[in-house]
Amino acid sequence: MNIHEYQAKEILARFGVKVPVGYVADTPEEAVEVAKRIKEETDTPAYVVKAQIHAGGRGKGGGVKLAQDFDEVKDLAGKIIGMTLVTPQTGAEGKLVNKVLITEDSFYPGPSDIRELYVSILLDRNTGTNVIMASTEGGMDIEEVAEKTPEKIIKEWIDPAVGLQGFQARKVAYALGLEGAAHKDMVKFLFALYKAYEGSDASQVEINPALKTADDQILALDAKVNIDDNALYRHKDIATMRDITEEAPEEVEAGEYGLNYVKLDGNVGCMVNGAGLAMATMDIIKLSGGEPANFLDVGGTANAQTVEAGFRIIMKDPNVKAILINIFGGIVRCDRVANGVVEAYKNIGDIKIPIIVRLQGTNAEEAAKIINESGLEVESAIVLKDAAEKVKEAVA
Ligand code: ADP
Ligand code: MG
Repeated sequence: MNIHEYQAKEILARFGVKVPVGYVADTPEEAVEVAKRIKEETDTPAYVVKAQIHAGGRGKGGGVKLAQDFDEVKDLAGKIIGMTLVTPQTGAEGKLVNKVLITEDSFYPGPSDIRELYVSILLDRNTGTNVIMASTEGGMDIEEVAEKTPEKIIKEWIDPAVGLQGFQARKVAYALGLEGAAHKDMVKFLFALYKAYEGSDASQVEINPALKTADDQILALDAKVNIDDNALYRHKDIATMRDITEEAPEEVEAGEYGLNYVKLDGNVGCMVNGAGLAMATMDIIKLSGGEPANFLDVGGTANAQTVEAGFRIIMKDPNVKAILINIFGGIVRCDRVANGVVEAYKNIGDIKIPIIVRLQGTNAEEAAKIINESGLEVESAIVLKDAAEKVKEAVA
């Protein structure tokens, strides 16, 4: 699960990660109120107004602005709330901004230089361990750094048996070119960040930039935190941070029916039971000249309702030129699914694209008979190769 920057910072702060003082606001008036509170707490000379959307690159898109006084906070918050923010990560359609985070300005002058660093922790699937990644090239496109100058990304793998060790944190701080108080604070920062990562069951925490302030503190100026969905049951407080307005509506609807749906940009919709079969079906669609429009796993207990919900969700996608239903009747009987398909088809009505149904397993013959005798424009195929041929004709 993805969360907003202000929520991510709230979690990090609980584990002792230093973040700039800031509060979220829904309206320009509220933005001014919280700016006044920040002024009382910090005496900051300026404020940063930050659009809260589930995407990075906001600075480049005009979603992060510096305000010198309360009037400017109000003005900028008014402009940013309600805007459709387009960043390199949102796609061309952009994302509607509903909230802003107002924070103190952390670029205050002081005895030493200010630096924007990069720090993240994630699971390295190759080694099966967590890895800390860090770079002196923070604040900018880290993907570009990784691609063009990979040597500028430091990696430190964490042994799960012993956790993050002092020498490792010091090694990272040293590689980031930090000395004295800043070095010490980075070591503390890394330990707190690691604790937050493990303690919240995150699958990723990314701090870009981690700021070295002019008085040698290390702050999380930005924060991207992803929480492992499978662990949300033990973090009820984090689960409430979910913002469904940030998620694709089809995926939210699918979730309500217990369907596992991921939208893709091809032309053949598919509905399958079991993730492995779904992957294989997507391969078959590609081999037969189509492109999968989605991944949709209806799970082991497909019934008329779930099939109908799946249908509706797939049909909302205007790119879909054909639908391939591929269900293996192991636990669920094929004739029941066939009845579900026929029923769903009738309920939805006015379906103008070819539907190819492949039902294999328990009662497959009966299922094919139900489909063929339904009088609907649904083609049945028992063998996957036949199904693929029919998809090929349908998208030709
Ligand atoms: P994004 O990654 O979505 O562009 P960031 O939070 O990283 O958003 O902000 C972009 C840039 O804005 C940062 O690299 C930093 O230069 C500046 N910035 C962000 N927060 C602050 C702050 N509290 N004080 C001063 N500058 C900030
Ligand atoms: Mg950033």
